[in-house]
Amino acid sequence: MKVAIIGLGSVGSAVATAIKNTGLVHEMVLFDRDGVRAMAAAADLGHASAFSFDVKITAANSYREIRGSEIVVIAAGANQKPGQTRTDLLAANADVIRDIIPRVMANTDPKTVKIIVVTNPLDVMVMLARDLSGLPAARVIGTGTMLDSARLRTILARQFDVSPMSINAYVLGEHGDSSVVNWGSICIGAIPLNDFCKSTKLPLPQTTRRTIEHRVHNAAYEIIQGRGATWDGIAAAVNDLLRCIINDEKRILTVSCVATKTNVAMSRPAIVGHDGVITVLTPRLLPMESRALQNCARIIKKNYNNI
Ligand code: NAD
Repeated sequence: MKVAIIGLGSVGSAVATAIKNTGLVHEMVLFDRDGVRAMAAAADLGHASAFSFDVKITAANSYREIRGSEIVVIAAGANQKPGQTRTDLLAANADVIRDIIPRVMANTDPKTVKIIVVTNPLDVMVMLARDLSGLPAARVIGTGTMLDSARLRTILARQFDVSPMSINAYVLGEHGDSSVVNWGSICIGAIPLNDFCKSTKLPLPQTTRRTIEHRVHNAAYEIIQGRGATWDGIAAAVNDLLRCIINDEKRILTVSCVATKTNVAMSRPAIVGHDGVITVLTPRLLPMESRALQNCARIIKKNYNNI
């Protein structure tokens, strides 16, 4: 399996490291418009091959070198500076996606290639990448709220002192400020959240729930304030998505892809396998969550219409 990564900044480099450390792929090709940076990343990570999996890692001078890649990860573009929202990146990153997608399509097999979009504002970039590539929606996949859901699961795990692996909890909608915590479908193990709270006598009052939502929404801002960018969490999310596709695991992940009915991309729980998104599921939603999701769709559509 050959994978290409476009954009070797904080996120792309961390993604490359995460993928390298799993041994899931035998070949990785790294492209950045800053060729020196891509070359340095390929050399540095290549040296790590002596300590773990022997993955062939090369820096590409041109898109011709991504030929044969079955999955292309797009992590290029401007990132948020302290105080900026993801939406502030809209115009600049739309140009980045417009630059990248035609070149990717000219050098990959349109019958099989899967594009994973990481660039923000994520959902709009997924819609643009889908339009420009002409690929089926199932094969243009944004990491969406995988990271937001992971943040929610971790917070709940610490609250209840249970492994995050045993928390099934989704954040849905926009990967952005309007994302929606889907309280109605949270289960700890197989036990619905409210039943779990009752049986363990660990209540989760509304005030705590609002605080948790706030922490999920603000996690990226706090990390950017502290270390300039976020990369570890998103790299783990991309690697998890890649693993799910490569191994045809058919796990349920909150990824973003364009819905046929609405033509809007936003995150919903979806079964993901070798051919990308197989089925998008409809979770149980509280009326408030349903309204909040409609609001997400409106925001994403409006932003899309602005580019
Ligand atoms: P960065 O500035 O560190 O790196 C961006 C890289 O993209 C640079 O190396 C730059 O040379 C390259 N680049 C820019 N335009 C290019 C082009 N047209 N072709 C090829 N390469 C190009 O930024 P970062 O911190 O790595 O973030 C990258 C993107 O990922 C941002 O849009 C950021 O908001 C996003 N991000 C998304 C998530 C998520 O959950 N989806 C999480 C973190 C960051």
